[in-house]
Amino acid sequence: MAGRVAGGIWILGGISVALGTLLANRSDVDWRVLGPLCAVAVIWGACRGWLLDWTRTPRWATHATMLAAVAVGSAMVAAGGGSDSVAWPTLLWLALYALYFYAPSVSFSYLIVIAAAVAAPLAYDTHDTLHNSLLGTLLVTAACGAPVAVALVVSKRGLVRRRESAEAQALTDSLTGLANHRELQRALAELNAEGAALSHYAVAVVDIDDFKAINDAAGHEYGDGVLVAVAACLRQFTEAEEVLARSGGDEFTWLMPRASATEARDRIDAVRKLLGRQRHSYRITLSAGVCDERHGNDANELIRLADAALYWSKSRGRDRCQVYDPVVVDALSPDERASRLKRSQAMLGLRALAQAIDAKDPDTLAHSERVAELVLRLALAGGWEEDSALALRDAALVHDVGKIGVDDALLHKPEKLTDAERGEVHFHAELSARITTGVLSEEQVSWVRCHHERFDGRGYPAGLIGAEIPDGAALLSVADAFDVMTSGRAYSPRRSRAEALAECHSLSGTQFSPDAVALLERVVTLKPEIVEGPVSSVEALAK
Ligand code: GH3
Ligand code: MG
Repeated sequence: MAGRVAGGIWILGGISVALGTLLANRSDVDWRVLGPLCAVAVIWGACRGWLLDWTRTPRWATHATMLAAVAVGSAMVAAGGGSDSVAWPTLLWLALYALYFYAPSVSFSYLIVIAAAVAAPLAYDTHDTLHNSLLGTLLVTAACGAPVAVALVVSKRGLVRRRESAEAQALTDSLTGLANHRELQRALAELNAEGAALSHYAVAVVDIDDFKAINDAAGHEYGDGVLVAVAACLRQFTEAEEVLARSGGDEFTWLMPRASATEARDRIDAVRKLLGRQRHSYRITLSAGVCDERHGNDANELIRLADAALYWSKSRGRDRCQVYDPVVVDALSPDERASRLKRSQAMLGLRALAQAIDAKDPDTLAHSERVAELVLRLALAGGWEEDSALALRDAALVHDVGKIGVDDALLHKPEKLTDAERGEVHFHAELSARITTGVLSEEQVSWVRCHHERFDGRGYPAGLIGAEIPDGAALLSVADAFDVMTSGRAYSPRRSRAEALAECHSLSGTQFSPDAVALLERVVTLKPEIVEGPVSSVEALAK
């Protein structure tokens, strides 16, 4: 628009000066100069406004044409009669143009240049009536210009406000009000520039767990509400100088200048706690990865590593925050990540199947989840590495998935089973192993297959004895039996924890591995808040 207005001023200036001077029929006009000036003004105005693309022209070129316009206006005044020339308004329009289209400091500079352009022709004026005509010119100029100038300033203010609000919107995510991807990129560039001067800075990537399932179950509108609630929790812990952005569908990136990775993790844990205390129809949990300046030279690299840590959190069961540590977290290649993601999605499918099987009967409802929690605690108490303990927990989550192939009537039959029926029930361990092959690792599959082996060799499917039984399967076996005893079945009454423990103790060395029973005794006799509390408190069990 500025280009068209400038072009219009050039054309109108050229035509009005030529016509005005002709009509005034003056004798003191130098047409050899004024004529070509007017013609050039009209031609250049057409180019300036309609033929040239000013969006691709450097800024200095627009300033050059503005200065040229002032010079031409001034020359028109000088050649068109001096102080009572009809060319004066051209300079007035140029002043208004500068006021409207340029920033205050630039337009002020133009006003000084234009004032000088006003003074220059007057210095060469030869009229006796100089003062009168100048006074008249200034009065007319002020009378015409003042209301236009006021209107311009008011409309420019509105324009600036609208522009600022449009700019703010362009940098904000409309749903959550957080910074969007574009603003995040700007903030990252700024952090990269400042990074060297900061003693600490951390970045965090936070993702909502199983958000797709929440959307699928409750609808997108509810999902949007969850995004807003999560954003509000995160915002509560965001300091003024930090940038919190919604960087993906259900993913947030948090830049924390001056925070260490541990401080960042503590803050994310506080957000997770706050979210846990809120009442939502669905359980909302977050996984996060954090990395600080010690692991990379630029913020984009730190985000990549924080993302690897987030992926680590996801693959270790979600609902946790992991600080990036090269020893623990491998920054996976896209291919590795895609293949692990595929597995983890397949695992989600198997988990859903196992949950559905458990949910068929009130006695077995959430059985696999409870066994998984208990076996994780047994493994950690037994000094297993966290990775292996979590792998065992995953195997436990799907250990009974093979029951899909067993008739329900047999699973709930209170009477003694016939040999054929027992064979069918026993086949579920082998079937679970076959179903989970390809999704779980070979070792995990062996734990699933052997979870009904007995220490004395009378178990199934292979009749393994003692140390032949994989350790994970021995733990899974005792955790599985303990949960069956304490929740009851059609064929056996529900027992108290103490009774179940005593029963397992009496079967130590026959049905169960003595080591596994010893761990069970340690874990079950610990304080309930450790046994049933968050997994993080289980580290105490290994001591
Ligand atoms: P994971 O624990 O592995 O993160 O599982 P997930 O289900 O959260 O998986 P993922 O992050 O891939 O899914 C993100 C989902 O977020 C998929 C998409 O349907 C949903 N989503 C993306 N943007 C929006 C949005 O603006 N509103 C709503 N309601 N959902 C969105
Ligand atoms: Mg997600």
